[in-house]
Amino acid sequence: MMGARYDLPEADAFTRTYWDAAARGVLLLRHCGTCDRVHHYPREFCPRCWSEDVTWSAATGRATLHTWSVVHRNDLPPFKDRTPYVAAVVDLAEGPRMMTEIVDCAHEALRAGLYLEAVFPDGVPKFRPCGGSVAVGGV
Ligand SMILES: [Zn+2]
Repeated sequence: MMGARYDLPEADAFTRTYWDAAARGVLLLRHCGTCDRVHHYPREFCPRCWSEDVTWSAATGRATLHTWSVVHRNDLPPFKDRTPYVAAVVDLAEGPRMMTEIVDCAHEALRAGLYLEAVFPDGVPKFRPCGGSVAVGGV
């Protein structure tokens, strides 16, 4: 037994759609039919106008790095075996901000505005650098 894990969410009936999509490599957002905005994380109503006219829509998976923190200590499994890792807030191309983790990136290469793409290790959305105009790994 691996014991409890604190990185994998328990899906309920509502969020199961989100996690099923993530397992297929698709990041889902929620789109409001009333104010035409998208939000994340998924809610059953629009956090801007409270409309319940909200449906799932697939994100491009593109984002830019907004802020981050290299976590050197976390005693909760499985993070304990993974430190250091990079906890981050990214700006999704569609607009919403998302708390996530950055993978496949040297810590010294992290910078605001870094272009990112979604990856789904273990079916959990994370982000990694995808090149673009911001240098990755130094020039
Ligand atoms: Zn709305």
